[in-house]
Amino acid sequence: MQLKQLVPESFCLSCDVCCRFSEGYTVWSPLFTEAEIKHLVNKDILPPSIFTSPRPEADGNKVKHEHRTRRINLVAYKDYFICPCFRPEDKKCRIYEDRPFECRLYPFLLVNRGGKFYMAQDTKCPYLRSAQQEEIDSYVNYLQEALQADEARMFLKNSPQLFADYPAADLKLLFPINNYGSL
Ligand code: SF4
Ligand code: SF4
Repeated sequence: MQLKQLVPESFCLSCDVCCRFSEGYTVWSPLFTEAEIKHLVNKDILPPSIFTSPRPEADGNKVKHEHRTRRINLVAYKDYFICPCFRPEDKKCRIYEDRPFECRLYPFLLVNRGGKFYMAQDTKCPYLRSAQQEEIDSYVNYLQEALQADEARMFLKNSPQLFADYPAADLKLLFPINNYGSL
């Protein structure tokens, strides 16, 4: 699913936040659906071994295989960890055209708060900290509208494992996503 990007590429290329992590396994590392993994593996873009093993999930029985999620195995780099698709030398994603939905959405996040689903923004993103509120509001309106399209609603309904329990202090909740189970 394609999404218009809010943050200009030039801004991201001078930022040190995305794709780098303080821990080797974290809720902030990118989630890939099984369908996204299959696409990357079948196109020989990434090997299957680069992803974590499938984990039993509380809702695993309800979620079809192609909509389940796995994280990518982060790799140690200097004194932190990076996504293995990240190229530190030019700060680019080497699978940019095929990156997962979660990376396309960032700095916006799918959040699970006690079984309720929300769209949120990551308050750590320097662009969101410095942008005019009108620009952010306009993008959030676009996002809300884009996620009402049938393809997007179906994707979100089918992919509850993409909604993660991020630390509340890093989030600004934007709007509820109520379509899970309603289609
Ligand atoms: S944190 Fe924000 S500005 Fe920095 S790379 Fe990520 S999206 Fe771009
Ligand atoms: S897949 Fe690409 S955009 Fe996503 S975390 Fe890895 S390097 Fe960054």
